[in-house]
Amino acid sequence: MSIYNCPNCKNKTFNPLTKALAGQLNSIGRNCPHCGKRLVNGKGATIFNAIFSLICFALIVLVYLKAPKIQWLSPIEGQVVLALIAIKIIVPRIVWAFFFRLEPAIKMGSR
Ligand SMILES: [Zn+2]
Repeated sequence: MSIYNCPNCKNKTFNPLTKALAGQLNSIGRNCPHCGKRLVNGKGATIFNAIFSLICFALIVLVYLKAPKIQWLSPIEGQVVLALIAIKIIVPRIVWAFFFRLEPAIKMGSR
């Protein structure tokens, strides 16, 4: 079974874009166009996002603390922090588009 198959009706109703937009376990998710079941990216995707966010946050703090002492980094500190924030938001969605399985949403109103 492909990662783009709905775990409820087994139809291949998702594509990389809609899967990326389905969010993670604590998201509202997206309805399967075939059976209407609300789906999100599962535990693996959620754990990946948590770890990745933590790494990005640690790097942002590190840049903030170390930039004044590093000659090449100091003038571009703002841009580097902005880039890290963008990476923190974009990269997990790209990973969700191509990895991890869909699971039924657990949030209220999921059925
Ligand atoms: Zn379905």
